[in-house]
Amino acid sequence: MYTMRPGEFTYHRPTSVEEAISLIGADARPLAGGHSLLPMMKIRLAAPAALVDLGRIPGLDEISRDGDTLRIGATATHAAVAASDVVRSACPVLAEAAGGIGDRQVRNRGTIGGSIAHADPGADYPTVLTALGATIAVAGSRGEREVAIDDFFQGVFTTALGPDELVTAVQVPVTSAGTGAAYAKKAHPASGYAVAGAAAVVSVEGGSCTAARIAIGGVTGTPVRATAAEQVLVGEVVSLEAATRAADTVARSLGSGEIGDTYASAEYRVHLATVLAKRALAAAIERSGAGGS
Ligand code: FAD
Repeated sequence: MYTMRPGEFTYHRPTSVEEAISLIGADARPLAGGHSLLPMMKIRLAAPAALVDLGRIPGLDEISRDGDTLRIGATATHAAVAASDVVRSACPVLAEAAGGIGDRQVRNRGTIGGSIAHADPGADYPTVLTALGATIAVAGSRGEREVAIDDFFQGVFTTALGPDELVTAVQVPVTSAGTGAAYAKKAHPASGYAVAGAAAVVSVEGGSCTAARIAIGGVTGTPVRATAAEQVLVGEVVSLEAATRAADTVARSLGSGEIGDTYASAEYRVHLATVLAKRALAAAIERSGAGGS
């Protein structure tokens, strides 16, 4: 039966990460902004017996920089990330991506931890964080651990998190001088989710590319590293021509399992990935300070 009301649940409001961990489990889910979990509960795609609200845990939304690492607490909202001077100076592409998520209401409620834990293929952070080479700080009943972003997303709505684990923070390398990063997406006109998105981080020394990470989102179940494109770029003199040659290889890295639905076919999404990768690469090269003609 179709319904717009969630089933009954118990509501917990812990005041520490330890207390939250003691309460969560397979049938007791963390609640952050509620912008993905509550809609799923309303249509009964999720029916947890308990919700554990992370919103009152002091410090869990903190944004800070420690040397070359930017640390964003799990309950930092998209709006807070977009507006943060720390994020804007340490990793501008992340602030830009956060500012392009959904609409004002979504950005004021949705959180970075909730977004990556939810692992929607059309979400923006997963793609950008994959290109940035982020690390996810996780805490659970067996202690704390760090998960490399390349290992974090395991399928549609599926991550490396155990049922007893919380994302506590997202750690991102600060974008250094000589490195440019950019994100380009084709937004769904109703929600803002990425029909497809591409993020690129390019490091340049003496006009040549020394390192590149390119990620594609929205096209398959998880963000995908466009490793063939990365290989084309590294060692090359950066230019728009090199960016185009690299972007033209993106489809090779996508494997199978491209998503097609009533809004966009799989074929169209793959086409978008190539176009968006070229845009993201061109912008990243420009921002690296190398220009590129
Ligand atoms: P919640 O809904 O509270 O939780 C989502 C899931 O994550 C649940 O399973 C929950 O148990 C789990 N969870 C939450 N926090 C943690 C944690 N710290 N550790 C472990 N598990 C946790 N997203 C985009 O990227 N781009 C868009 O353009 C976009 N447009 C949107 C438009 C609309 C109209 C809506 C409703 C949503 C949109 N979203 C978009 C999704 C939005 O960003 C969500 O806020 C986000 O995906 C989930 O974050 P949340 O804090 O609301 O998490």
